[in-house]
Amino acid sequence: MPIARVALPVAAPTTFDYWIPEGLAVERGAIVRVRLGTRRLAGVVIATASDSEVDRAKLSPVVDVVGDERVPFDVLDLCAFVASYYQEAIGLAHALALPPLRAQAASRALRGSCRLTDEGRRALAALPARARSACGLRDRMLQDTALDVDTLTTHEKTILREWRRHRYVVPAGERAARPALELNAAQSEAAAAIAQSLGAYAAFMVNGVTGSGKTEVYLAAADAAIAAGGQVLMLVPEINLTPQLVDRMRAARPGLRVALMHSALAAGERRDAWRAAASGEAQLVLGTRLAVFAPLPSLALVVVDEEHDASYKQQDNVRYHARDAAIWRARRRDVPVVLGSATPSLETWLGARDGRYRRLDLPHRADARAQLPGVRLTPHRAAAAQDGIGDALRAGIAGCLARGEQSLVFVNRRGFATSLVCAACKWESQCTRCSARLTVHRQPPALRCHHCGHEERLPRACPSCGNVDLVPLGLGTQRLERALAAAFPRARIARVDRDSTRGRHAFASVRDKVEANAIDILVGTQMLAKGHDFPRLTLVGILGSDNALYSADFRATERLAALLVQVAGRAGRAGSPGEVIVQTDFPDHPVYTALLSHDYAQLADTLLAEREAAALPPVTHAALLSAEAHRREDVDAFMHAAHEIGIELRTLHAEVEVFSPVAALLARRAGYERSQLVVQSARRGALQRFLPAWRERMEALPGRRTRWAIDVDPAGFG
Ligand SMILES: [Zn+2]
Ligand SMILES: [Zn+2]
Repeated sequence: MPIARVALPVAAPTTFDYWIPEGLAVERGAIVRVRLGTRRLAGVVIATASDSEVDRAKLSPVVDVVGDERVPFDVLDLCAFVASYYQEAIGLAHALALPPLRAQAASRALRGSCRLTDEGRRALAALPARARSACGLRDRMLQDTALDVDTLTTHEKTILREWRRHRYVVPAGERAARPALELNAAQSEAAAAIAQSLGAYAAFMVNGVTGSGKTEVYLAAADAAIAAGGQVLMLVPEINLTPQLVDRMRAARPGLRVALMHSALAAGERRDAWRAAASGEAQLVLGTRLAVFAPLPSLALVVVDEEHDASYKQQDNVRYHARDAAIWRARRRDVPVVLGSATPSLETWLGARDGRYRRLDLPHRADARAQLPGVRLTPHRAAAAQDGIGDALRAGIAGCLARGEQSLVFVNRRGFATSLVCAACKWESQCTRCSARLTVHRQPPALRCHHCGHEERLPRACPSCGNVDLVPLGLGTQRLERALAAAFPRARIARVDRDSTRGRHAFASVRDKVEANAIDILVGTQMLAKGHDFPRLTLVGILGSDNALYSADFRATERLAALLVQVAGRAGRAGSPGEVIVQTDFPDHPVYTALLSHDYAQLADTLLAEREAAALPPVTHAALLSAEAHRREDVDAFMHAAHEIGIELRTLHAEVEVFSPVAALLARRAGYERSQLVVQSARRGALQRFLPAWRERMEALPGRRTRWAIDVDPAGFG
């Protein structure tokens, strides 16, 4: 009796056996529908066998095979690795590789580039201004003779399809070839090193200052791989950045076939992209972390851009790290992998130091006219009274406005203020469900918890003593926006944070306005830090970054350094020199002195030495057990038992250290009491042998009231 071993998207530690009815072609990698209890589920066949350990009478048949798509073997292997390395359910790990199944294929009518017809120009001139997306799309087509359909959002494609029906737009035909990428010496050397290694596994760290043209290096190397008939997988942390990237790549290689993969695509588009990758039609597969599971029969090169970015680590469901999965896959496929950043993660830095990765440096900005910005540190405390904006920053912005240049003011907190406090009785706005303060929002007015989403009306008087003198404490983007508007009433100001960019086009619309010079001052959070090139932006102000120095998380300084370098790197990228003003009360902290001297390498060495001294990752290997329950005694009892088991297992696993459980940094969230426990080892293999034994014993514990999870290589302890 032929048997199919199926990985189903359920949180079980096993696969499930089904018998294969005669006439059904079921092979490894096939996607099948089966019954599990009363449910019908789709899963992937990870093996076939002639016999099952399960009694024949208890087995159900495979219901049918879904489509003709097959998950390739190397992707199945990657999923199996992810399940075992990250201690995740095998079925959930395999679900990451499945294409959307129910979706109809998206319309294929729109491909390549489109242009407006004369009739379209006439008809669309009268669009009402409130049709914002349509107006934006029309304006872009008026500026540019041909618009690349692949760079559009789903909503924009819908609009375009409508216009197509009216013959307002027609396909533009292939774009004329533009000159190939021009590389400077450092770029050519790096690109050549990568191109020469095509055909075998090699790992590179491309360490390039902001504006050094890392993208051109990736593109040149990718071009070499594609010219030889290969496919390139490029991971990016932020899908907002892909249109620029695709444009540049197409300029170098007209007619390039690109497939985009990210979660904001409609299911039909994702399925199309999956098929284009699987058939080899797509030469470049560009996407966020889930693209690491794309089927790529001719994979020749893997690139992880901004490899330090925290978004590569999935924080729930299957807790994998896409950068590390990409490295594993490159090794399995025997192709080179490129890890690029202006602020490499300490994991990658250590890999380069140990010789596991080859280091390629781009020490200068690519545009010879563009210097790295000058950095000034000014005291923050003095600025607090002026809603956060100190004299130096105020003067800097005024200068920018006078010269017609743009400035960016960065504070990594959204909302108006971090909390609301009563001046009389010291009452403070607290979330009822979390051990956290409620953030003050003014647009729209509310008290909001940034951890659980809980929302309350903004009180007019203190709920405890009735005093009306309530003081907003701390600085958020909304408050900064208001202060800037008061200080510079004629300036055009735009705020960019999660609240202001809820609509999917909101961010693109701000970016277009900045590019069109319709904005003078940008205020925002780290959404602004990532890779955007704004040539007229010459001043960057950084506020409130000292907060990160108080964090108990061991990665806080590394993250702050990356954020500061990235934000500062937005200044002065074209011909105009840039300036960065950082308001800090700790000017001697290594993270700020490194920023002053543009010496990330020195800082990375210092931080790595600290991790070595403290025996922390990446020098050691860690896993974090986190647990939560409604009642503190339940979570404590579970953690106590988990700790006992860990200690007991140490008789067999002496190289693993098991620390005592502690309350999480956020001890209560959304009504759950939370605890955590760290296990670590100097040797990855020792930890990997310990974890499954530990997990199995914990699964057998009675603690039904407690939810728990193991996070291997956690982003932080907290
Ligand atoms: Zn009060
Ligand atoms: Zn809350």
